[in-house]
Amino acid sequence: MARAQSGHRRPGRQALIPTRRGLIVSGLAASLAGPALAAGGALQLAGRYQQGGFALGRTAPRADLFVDGVSVGQASRQGLFVIGFDRDSPPSAALSVRTTDGEFARQIAVAPGRFDIQRINGLPADQVEPSDPALLARIKAEVARKAVGFSSNVDADDFKDGFLLPVTGARLSARFGGQRILNGDPKRPHYGSDLAAPLGTPVLAPAPGVVSFAETGLHFDGALVLLDHGQGLISCYLHLSRVDVKAGDALVTGQRIGAVGMEGRATGPHLCWRLKWHGRNLDPMLLVGARAPA
Ligand SMILES: [Zn+2]
Repeated sequence: MARAQSGHRRPGRQALIPTRRGLIVSGLAASLAGPALAAGGALQLAGRYQQGGFALGRTAPRADLFVDGVSVGQASRQGLFVIGFDRDSPPSAALSVRTTDGEFARQIAVAPGRFDIQRINGLPADQVEPSDPALLARIKAEVARKAVGFSSNVDADDFKDGFLLPVTGARLSARFGGQRILNGDPKRPHYGSDLAAPLGTPVLAPAPGVVSFAETGLHFDGALVLLDHGQGLISCYLHLSRVDVKAGDALVTGQRIGAVGMEGRATGPHLCWRLKWHGRNLDPMLLVGARAPA
């Protein structure tokens, strides 16, 4: 199959986000050209092939999709699909696509991510290691309700044009995947990209999606909204100071979800922006400026 480099560059809609280390995220779109894009044929891929990254694909409508031999659903009516690589993904993923014309396979090399060490001190003890039985029961019930939201699977391909940033003028205060040391105690990785912005800054839908969960008052997450973009790709908005949507709402790009806050486990106002795909944790920032093969 002939292969050509992807020529897709999205003109910069992203805001400049200087981080503590001076990283400028606006350069992201320019770095998207790396992976090859098949020219024509029954399977085209583009994306960020790294831990926490993804592949956007185009194939036959409703083709069956398998990753490492496990079914991950079907391509959309337009033949578009997304697959995600977990933060701790092994160094390669076997994609296979079954169409009426036969089966097409591709081995994808997944580059290692570079993850920070993140130390957060001064958190209340019940935000680090809850022990109160009533609080544990409450957290368990919250996890069960969220699981329903995460199990949402709308028939859509609302990821095909990538993401815009949900907050304008924000600073990337913590990158995806950092190892967290809370009050001196090593914990599981941080699965969000933290966008620091003033309290009340609008949080906007980065792509079309259906709200699959919207609640306030959660112990760790504060106010949380989940947005289903199709095929199990679900973006998450934590610590909101207000929520302007309800479960079932279909949002268009740029529609207001809520506002930046610091409810739950947060030491200052920021949006903790997360992205899940079939239980895998992805970096939403990598989808900013991406798009599916034309
Ligand atoms: Zn976060």
